[in-house]
Order: sequence, then C-alpha cells, then structure tokens
Amino acid sequence: MQTDDQSAPPVPETARPLYPNAFALGEGYPTEADCTILRQEAGKGQGVYAVRAFKAGQRIARVSGSISHAVMQHTLQISSGVHLYDPYFSGYLLHSCDPNCRLDMQRFELLALRDIAPGEPMVIDYAYTEDVLFKQFPCLCGAPNCRGWIIGRRETPRK
Ligand SMILES: [Zn+2]
Repeated sequence: MQTDDQSAPPVPETARPLYPNAFALGEGYPTEADCTILRQEAGKGQGVYAVRAFKAGQRIARVSGSISHAVMQHTLQISSGVHLYDPYFSGYLLHSCDPNCRLDMQRFELLALRDIAPGEPMVIDYAYTEDVLFKQFPCLCGAPNCRGWIIGRRETPRK
C-alpha cells in the first residue's frame, strides 16, 4: 500500500570543506564531494584526485592559502617573489607534462583543461606557474611529450 509521505527528503550531509574556514570564505572552494587528497604508492607523496566529474573548461574550485615570499613545498607562484602556500588543496596537485588542470594564479582558480572522471588524478604542469621549483625531479608521467626532468620556467637543470 502506498502512503503519502509528507516528510521532507533527508537533508544531505554537508560535504566537508578541504580548507579551514579562515582560508575559504565564500562559495566555490573545494569540498570532499569535489576532490580528495590521497597518498599514492610508497615514496610518491600525496596527490589530489577528482571525486566527481568535471567538464573541460570548467572551474573546478577556487584556491586559497597564505602568502609566502619563499618557495617551499606546497607553494604556488603568484608573481615574482610572491607565492601562495596551500597545504590543504592546490599545494598537493601533482605534475604532468600533459596536464588535465591549470591554475589561474590571478583569479586563484583551478580549471579543467579536459573532461575529468571521478577517481582521476588532477595534474598540472609545474612549469606553467613556477619560475623555480622547490625541488627539480625526474618525471614519470608517461605522456608522449614528457620532458623527463622537471624544472621551473626560469631555471636550468641541476642534476
Ligand atoms: Zn612528464
């Protein structure tokens, strides 16, 4: 027998934001319903993975953090000598020479360059934003255009 259910549908549990409240004021910042930070295989550090699908060209999320004048792990360059220290979200984006995402460091946004499926790693090209990397490293991204050794756009290889 069917009953007329007058009760409202259950309120969905609010997805937990990746940033502490002080860093992400307003709409558009990532939650665990958008992306998650996962540890990769041993020794490879952590990375950002899509939880839901994103369309090419779409803004994935706004990024935030604190200003640093030093290049550190988890910083992203805003302009010469000015960096965003983000140990919550964008600082964990991994590198690929054929990235599926791009950071806009004027608008503080992460954009999808291609359609991204849930579970895919979200990867950027570090040389797109960084003059000098915290650490140069050998790349194993596997892209046909892989540069092999990753450096910032204004430095020379230090092998
Ligand atoms: Zn590569």
